[in-house]
Amino acid sequence: MKLDLSGKVALVTGSTRGIGRAIAQSLVDAGAKVAVVGRDLSRAEQVAEQLGEARGFACDISVPADVTMLVQSVEDAFGSCDILVNNAGITKDNLMLRMKDEDWDAVLETNLRSAFIAIRAAQRGMMKRRWGRIINIASVVGLIGNKGQANYAASKAGLIGLSKSVAKELASRNILCNVVAPGFIKTDMTDAMTPEAVAALSAQIPLERFGTPEDIAGLVTFLASDRAAYITGQVFAVDGGMVM
Ligand code: NDP
Repeated sequence: MKLDLSGKVALVTGSTRGIGRAIAQSLVDAGAKVAVVGRDLSRAEQVAEQLGEARGFACDISVPADVTMLVQSVEDAFGSCDILVNNAGITKDNLMLRMKDEDWDAVLETNLRSAFIAIRAAQRGMMKRRWGRIINIASVVGLIGNKGQANYAASKAGLIGLSKSVAKELASRNILCNVVAPGFIKTDMTDAMTPEAVAALSAQIPLERFGTPEDIAGLVTFLASDRAAYITGQVFAVDGGMVM
């Protein structure tokens, strides 16, 4: 049966490309109105137009006040923010010895603090309406760690702890919070890898391939729907079986 999100409004950070864009498209296809967010307004508006029932918003999510304003703008434009997908994320990889303070801070601010600020802002309306879905996009690296990604792994593990706390705090208001942890997915983030690196990594994946953004979007849309009404505080790896 088709998932039905008609009447719901979704905010998806980092939805101008990659996984976020596929999530936004899938939510629109299920009937939701979607706020497409990136740093550049014309790019976000262009993507929104391509997706259908969507509007573009500009926000640098590493700036706390801007994230709070973003949630307010989406509520003003659409009347509510029922589904929040914290997807935008960056990497600034280096071995610990060479990792600069600013690379640590940038990754934690963009990947983790932004989610805290967005949830804090969106929860008010969700509490009033007694319905909400918060889905945070982490990474299997947040579960198992990775050489050269101490900042990124910490940010993604942090998202998991944040999500479980939010799930416990808001469950009584029918606000559910879950985590999707992708493995290797084909996007701009992984396109920089050499074909040799992709082949070597694929060999460690039981399904023997990188995932697609749509592989992630399907689960996010399910978790946003009423079909997932009894699921909260969970972490779902979507990784071709890499971590089990
Ligand atoms: P991409 O690099 O393809 O896209 C990143 C998105 O985030 C873009 O839409 C970009 O928008 C947005 N973004 C980045 N920084 C900011 C910022 N400061 N403010 C607002 N928007 C921002 O990433 P992916 O699609 O690959 O990844 C999406 C999520 O999935 C990330 O959290 C990532 O960590 C996670 N993930 C990805 C994996 C993969 O293999 N690809 C594996 C595991 C997890 P714009 O440039 O328009 O501002």
